[in-house]
Amino acid sequence: MTCDEFRQLLGDHLGGELVVEVRESFETHRVECENCEFYLESYTHTVKITRKLPKCGPLPSAVEARLREVLKDHLHGSG
Ligand SMILES: [Zn+2]
Repeated sequence: MTCDEFRQLLGDHLGGELVVEVRESFETHRVECENCEFYLESYTHTVKITRKLPKCGPLPSAVEARLREVLKDHLHGSG
């Protein structure tokens, strides 16, 4: 699994929608790739926060844009 694939699967992972084989690859990549582990933790944390907010509606896309911006520096040049 590549870092790009990993990031594309984040949403499904959080929704519990990955089939077992994909989830195993996902977990393997997470363990082996510090950048993606950081990415996953940040993403999960952000999603949890946004889910706790009662009236935000479709906020997550804005939050995700912000998150990507923050993570861009961290991930830059390592891919
Ligand atoms: Zn990775």
